[in-house]
Amino acid sequence: MEVLQCNRKLGQLRIIELEKPTLRGPDDVIVKVAFAGICGTDLHILSGEFSHISDKWVTISHEFCGVVEDIGDNVKNISVGDRVGVDPNRVCLSCKFCRRGQPQHCTNKGTNNDSTGVFCNGGMASHCVVLADQVHKLPDDVTLQQGVLCEPLSCLLQGWFRLQNSGCLQQDSRILVIGAGIIGYLWVSMLHHNGYRNVTVSEPSQGRRDILANLETGYKVLTPAEVEAEEVEKDSELDGFDVIIECSGFPPAIEKAVSWTGRGAALVIFGCSPRNKPINICPEEIYRKELMIIGCLINPFTFSKALKLASAMGERYLSYEKLGVKVFKLQEYEEALNQLRFGIISKAVFNLNNDLFFC
Ligand SMILES: [Zn+2]
Ligand SMILES: [Zn+2]
Repeated sequence: MEVLQCNRKLGQLRIIELEKPTLRGPDDVIVKVAFAGICGTDLHILSGEFSHISDKWVTISHEFCGVVEDIGDNVKNISVGDRVGVDPNRVCLSCKFCRRGQPQHCTNKGTNNDSTGVFCNGGMASHCVVLADQVHKLPDDVTLQQGVLCEPLSCLLQGWFRLQNSGCLQQDSRILVIGAGIIGYLWVSMLHHNGYRNVTVSEPSQGRRDILANLETGYKVLTPAEVEAEEVEKDSELDGFDVIIECSGFPPAIEKAVSWTGRGAALVIFGCSPRNKPINICPEEIYRKELMIIGCLINPFTFSKALKLASAMGERYLSYEKLGVKVFKLQEYEEALNQLRFGIISKAVFNLNNDLFFC
């Protein structure tokens, strides 16, 4: 089978021929991949920013779904023929963090060690072997195309739950979403789906702002300069944003965002920022406003909840057309990355098996 691989040390991608995977043990599942996505994390890996991951060639995509083709003898949670989404992150349940209920910080598995599509071969192939505990059956009303979005939605839910727990999000909150890539669109969809209406989106790219209009939320969509022009007129403490969801990962944008927060606000740091790029924040401002800065890392036990969320959101929010997601063939990866980088599309999804296109 043909696979798309990434080497973060060389900063290169390549298509090569690999043997189709077979069951390695009794807990294995072979997934025939329908769709696999590329996300911002893959672009960060490609640019060599994640020095902790392997410098070997790895088949990319940690966001994929498909149909179960084979299962090992111990596998009970799914059957051959099931339509499934795959959680790329596993947990060990025995390290200090897992035992505290913080498996996103697991020191033995997941993002530090064995995430599928990052450390081990992922979904950009006709078939992928994973472990049974990574595989979730899709609800009947969730299409395989929507199924690809369950991984990013599971990460969003981690941010969502942490924001809810902060107590800063109120029904009448004034909310700002910074950065309108696919993650920003999904946050916008999530907020609208949950009834929040006082939302502004800040995005410098015209193309991305245009895509956002397809979601028909009625939210205000502005350039960062336009947001700044509106906010300087206000007393930020009294009328600033109550919640800012930062999806750009761009340190200067985050620094600016702090000055737009009101009293009792929360700043959710969701976008993946570069390492060793600090920002200036005055601690007195954090103290005075009781500002909450909320980090959110991957998807601890949120994947199954994301399936239900995808089912509830449906085509109203998750249609590829509305979200600016485009489907490519594996061989078109260079074109896909270019369209992604130039903001022509919000996300590139690859169809790995023709016969699963409409399942
Ligand atoms: Zn991702
Ligand atoms: Zn652990």
